[in-house]
Amino acid sequence: MQKKPFVTKQQLEEMAKTYPTPFHLYDEKGIRENARKLKEAFAWNKGYKEYFAVKATPNPYILQILRECGCGTDCSSATELMMSDAVGFSGREIMFSSNDTPTEEFAMAGKLGAIINLDDITHIEYVEKALGAIPETISCRYNPGGVFKISNNIMDNPGDAKYGMTTEQITEAFKILKAKGAREFGIHAFLVSNTVTNEYYPMLAKVLFELAVRLKEETGVHIGFINLSGGVGIPYRPDQESNDIAVIGEGVRRVYEEVLVPAGMGDVAIYTELGRFMLAPYGCLVTRAIHEKHIYKEYIGVDACAVNLMRPAMYGAYHHITVMGKEDWPLDHRYDVVGSLCENNDKFAIDRMLPKIQKGDFLVIHDTGAHGFAMGYNYNGKLKSAELLLKEDGSVQQIRRAETARDYFATLDGCPMMKKFL
Ligand SMILES: *Cc1c(COP(=O)(O)O)cnc(C)c1O
Repeated sequence: MQKKPFVTKQQLEEMAKTYPTPFHLYDEKGIRENARKLKEAFAWNKGYKEYFAVKATPNPYILQILRECGCGTDCSSATELMMSDAVGFSGREIMFSSNDTPTEEFAMAGKLGAIINLDDITHIEYVEKALGAIPETISCRYNPGGVFKISNNIMDNPGDAKYGMTTEQITEAFKILKAKGAREFGIHAFLVSNTVTNEYYPMLAKVLFELAVRLKEETGVHIGFINLSGGVGIPYRPDQESNDIAVIGEGVRRVYEEVLVPAGMGDVAIYTELGRFMLAPYGCLVTRAIHEKHIYKEYIGVDACAVNLMRPAMYGAYHHITVMGKEDWPLDHRYDVVGSLCENNDKFAIDRMLPKIQKGDFLVIHDTGAHGFAMGYNYNGKLKSAELLLKEDGSVQQIRRAETARDYFATLDGCPMMKKFL
């Protein structure tokens, strides 16, 4: 399948007059349509709610759009809670799925009335101290251990993951929490990231639904919701087939009918905490070629670097690249597309077949709407880019300006040597 940018070259030329490259661009129309499809896929479940994983794209304008689409937020830090609160999410619209959590952050989540999802049995005491009492609604994160397989393929290794509680621990935790006054319980698990298969959610649902039935029988608690968390992925590569969220929703429904309904648990709400699926395809990093270099390999230097998009450097992740205006040219040049960091892993693409690139060409790096800008950092003193929103009416709104040197130096508060930059 050909990957097509959601923006045209002409639109980019127009934008670049006001906003210099590089910048991240988001597609409001795509975000809304996708959120609608997700909602439809789970419409069979009365209490269904998506809690968007804020860490994927922590921008209040994006959160506001998702709020209008009926989503809540999933947070795991103080600043994510603060942003959710500022955008207007409150109480049960916020899920606090953190780990290794500082007491103050539990306290903040408690104050906002967020649903707290405990990563560990020892956190019961922490929460009790931080909030003064155990909240009436509480969730626990589960880790089944072992390996997670889909049709004999090992998808991931939960036994090696730091998250969640063992089966014995979650059973014990439910008993303790019940004794301490909790009334409504939730179960959460996140076992595999970026799954590009319609089978992941239904398989995870089966694990969690069966656990829920057992926990209800053994501890007598009321299970109000089951949180399938994140992990539904997107096709970063053009040869991958995308997930069909309608098929995924239907798969979860089938397991629900098979496991929960016969156990008298047909009132359990399904929650999700998707990040990547909600945003990744609806954002791109727009950069320009500024250099070409011919040594032992052919290099194209662009004005973005790994601080704008860390995934290739960090995970060797593939991000598709479109050279704007050359969509129909032959892919007859083999390039490494690189940024300017003094790190040889600062490469957006290695040995990528692309059309001939000239200095000044716009390169659209696809699927950066989630875990893109958000993972940015300031290595080499590089500054983070702006974020722009392509609105449904075709207009463009800057939803975060680019960092300046002043921002970079700002935490040197009053340092006399830096005075002329502060
Ligand atoms: C990161 C994360 C998510 C979102 O994951 P995606 O892969 O972006 O869907 C959801 N829940 C928790 C607890 C997470 O840490």
